Amino acid sequence: MSSEKEFNEIIYGLCRKRGFFWGPSPEIYGGSAGLYDLGPLGKLLKNRLEDRIRSSFVKAGFWEVECPTVSPAIVWKASGHLDGFIDPVTQCLSCKQVYRADNLIKEEFPEVHVEGLSVEQLTEKINELGVVCPSCKGRLGEVEPYNLMLKTRLGLDQEAYMRPETATTTYLLFKRFLTFFRDKLPFSVFQIGKAYRNEISPRQGMLRLREFTQVEGQIFILEKDEIEWPRFQEIADKKLPLLPYQTQEVESEEVIRLSLAEAIKREHFQKPAYAWCVQLAYSIFRGMGFSDDIIRLRQHLPTERAHYAADAWDVEIHTNSFGWVECCGIHDRGNYDLTRHQEFSKERLSVKVDKKPVVPNVLEIAFGVERPLFCLIDNSYVEDEERTWLRFPPEVAPVQVAVFPLMGKPELLSPAREIFMEIMESGLITQFDQSGSIGRRYRRQDEVGTPFCVTIDYTTL
Ligand SMILES: [Zn+2]
Repeated sequence: MSSEKEFNEIIYGLCRKRGFFWGPSPEIYGGSAGLYDLGPLGKLLKNRLEDRIRSSFVKAGFWEVECPTVSPAIVWKASGHLDGFIDPVTQCLSCKQVYRADNLIKEEFPEVHVEGLSVEQLTEKINELGVVCPSCKGRLGEVEPYNLMLKTRLGLDQEAYMRPETATTTYLLFKRFLTFFRDKLPFSVFQIGKAYRNEISPRQGMLRLREFTQVEGQIFILEKDEIEWPRFQEIADKKLPLLPYQTQEVESEEVIRLSLAEAIKREHFQKPAYAWCVQLAYSIFRGMGFSDDIIRLRQHLPTERAHYAADAWDVEIHTNSFGWVECCGIHDRGNYDLTRHQEFSKERLSVKVDKKPVVPNVLEIAFGVERPLFCLIDNSYVEDEERTWLRFPPEVAPVQVAVFPLMGKPELLSPAREIFMEIMESGLITQFDQSGSIGRRYRRQDEVGTPFCVTIDYTTL
């Protein structure tokens, strides 16, 4: 097989040609990095993935909601995004090109640790190591914080931001949820919707987007229920491919396959409810058609964790283009978010436990749909000496069935149309194709990964 970079180019070429995605968008104006258009097959594939995701959440007892994608500044002040959702950037003093300082250092000096460094420390590192502008070798300016939110305004002058995640907008509804769920905790909700991140110079195509569709599920839960989580029994025997942080610290990528009960016993998880969320995330990705051998669950190293996170694991998918790709985060957010919004909104966001007010904790599953979409295309690609085609799992293939009348004769066309309509009405995505030789028609469907084709010939009659 070709190198990762070449493979990636093959996939992008194929996606453009077959109408999965196009971009950067808008193409006829030169394109803006991090923006992509989904073509007809890409949109069908994404819909199918979203349907699978939605059904996984609903089966697990989550209720779907939808919130605005734009919110006034106060929300993002409270959530911490206004002050904390920043990338360190540096600008070339000669050609004015802007770079992410930490990535730039890492690209040239992979052994240097840049995680968690302040902007001042990054400036020092750049000077110390003699890092220069990659395109013109010019000197780099001081590293500055750059907020990743897209700013806009509501009405004439209300400062507002496009949401960088859906989660925050879900937390704001806590009081409403309490009433809806008749004051009973825990309860679970999720959103599937657009989020925006103004990445400084997004590369890696579909993996780093400025506008993307995010999926986030939240369980609002009290501490004691996280430990006593009764639903843990349903999944206690399920085995997961785990890569705990201790394994990574000895520089190993070898996953261990443990039942969740065993993983808890060995203290890879502290809370059964959190372990249940990790299992749910894993099963959502299995439901999207990823086979077990290309999924792993990687625990964050203690140094990688966000300041409020008690524990964090990622779902990673193996691709031929980029190796392992982080696709989903499972976070134990504690009561950080509700506490902050209580403070800023002056609304009571607590419940009574033993007559005392307690702010519930939040367990969260968060991911963008475009990453698994890309990973799925990447993993479905097959080639031999003669041709290339896609092999999608039937449960997510963009087109599920194609119907071919052997010839354009009325006695074959009419039953073929009838069968086509019947399959369509049953809810399957179906295509009717009567042009070209039958071999060519099969080949066309192979190229876009259609799992089933029906030919109507004289035997059919
Ligand atoms: Zn330069």
